[in-house]
Amino acid sequence: MQRKDRNVTARGGGPPFTEQAWAGSLESPYYRESHIKLRNYIRQYLESEVFPYAEEWELKGEVPRQAYDVHAAKGFILPGLPRKYRNGKNLPADIPDEEWDLFHSLIITEETSRSPHMGPIWGLGSANTISCPAILNFGTEEQRMKYLPDVHSGKIRFCLGITEPEAGSDVSSIRSTAKLSSDGKHFIVNGSKKWITNGIWADYIVSAVRTSSTASGASGISLLIIPLSSPGITRRRIANSGVHASGSTFILFSDVVVPRENLLGEENKGFKMVMSNFNPERLHLAGSALQMARTCYREAYGHALRRKTFGKALIENQVMRAKFAGMARMIESAHAWMEQIVWHIVQHPRSEQTADVGARLALLKVQSGKVLEYCCREAQQVFGGLGYSKEGPGRVVEQISRDLRVLVVGGGSEEILDDLGIKLTLSLAQSKASL
Ligand SMILES: Cc1cc2nc3c(=O)[nH]c(=O)nc-3n(C[C@H](O)[C@H](O)[C@H](O)COP(=O)(O)OP(=O)(O)OC[C@H]3O[C@@H](n4cnc5c(N)ncnc54)[C@H](O)[C@@H]3O)c2cc1C
Repeated sequence: MQRKDRNVTARGGGPPFTEQAWAGSLESPYYRESHIKLRNYIRQYLESEVFPYAEEWELKGEVPRQAYDVHAAKGFILPGLPRKYRNGKNLPADIPDEEWDLFHSLIITEETSRSPHMGPIWGLGSANTISCPAILNFGTEEQRMKYLPDVHSGKIRFCLGITEPEAGSDVSSIRSTAKLSSDGKHFIVNGSKKWITNGIWADYIVSAVRTSSTASGASGISLLIIPLSSPGITRRRIANSGVHASGSTFILFSDVVVPRENLLGEENKGFKMVMSNFNPERLHLAGSALQMARTCYREAYGHALRRKTFGKALIENQVMRAKFAGMARMIESAHAWMEQIVWHIVQHPRSEQTADVGARLALLKVQSGKVLEYCCREAQQVFGGLGYSKEGPGRVVEQISRDLRVLVVGGGSEEILDDLGIKLTLSLAQSKASL
């Protein structure tokens, strides 16, 4: 669609590279009027009701319940759910159901990631985003109807429990156990989970547990929905460098009784479910990292125009302009790659789980983390001492320098994902060769 045919224009629109190209001056084949409408709608909401309070909430370590309820009322908790799981509600900005595609979800990721602090954004429900797809994709219809409408309305919250003190990257080595009771009606869960986002407030955890006493490694793992109010559960917050308002939590299970009907999918087949659940999370993290890199660019760019040294603005020095060139190149190329992958998934909705796309999402997530690290470092350098200070014009970039590490490590760490990306392409090449 030609820009002149659009009857809505995108809000914002700063200097090149401070916004996505399609929202600025360049044409894009991927975005329609509904994307612009959603972007304007969410931006207006976030700029008036979330971003002004983000610093306060991050310092407090919590998003107020009322703000969470507003977020839910606006339809931003699991926004893309089918209508029957949304209590019949319209999609955000009244986007017609048939027009919603993955670019709309990407816009929500990007717009929320414009926050000067990521903690409150994660506090507003990112754990629902990474845990509930397991219910949608592997749960029974009864389980979906039992939980998803209440998550969407903000009544209940979920978190995802994969990582344990002894098992992070190597999910197949988890030790938490779920043993079936002698009458076969319950699982008895013992073990622990670490760094669980939103775990301190969540009502339920979708947890990976070992259900087989004989099978080892990836075999014998299941996914279980565990109510976090159950007797035998203790929770304590974990203090991290950043994302304070995300509610990072250590959870201990001690003889926790969980009804058998809370099993998600087939018993002992949970490892594959955990792995497939990672693909949408990696896209979300990549989109978020690239937006945060753009924020670094924008903040530093403004400073380089304002700050004068040796009688001229920083931006007038060639070595400074080279920094912006480097950042812009990295952000724009990774973003174009991401859009291409999203476009492919929009055209082939089941492809998100194929090796071809999984490999690219793994590598994209690594690349986006590297782009963010690079841009944050360069932006801090442009700010000089101000980039190290929690107050003043460099404070957004300083905060990002503390928030960014979890985007590089969480959802699959760099070393693991690089290797996964290439291993997947090798297996594809081998299977093609054997045809
Ligand atoms: C703020 C925060 C929020 C999180 N939220 C959640 C959540 O909601 N739910 C959840 O389940 N988890 C969560 N996590 C955990 C996160 O997913 C793990 O930290 C991540 O998977 C890495 O595991 P690990 O920290 O145990 O690192 P390890 O597995 O101990 O790895 C340490 C380092 O070594 C590298 N490495 C490991 N093995 C190899 C190898 N064979 N070859 C080369 N390099 C290797 C890794 O890439 C990593 O850099 C969160 C973490 C943080 C910090």
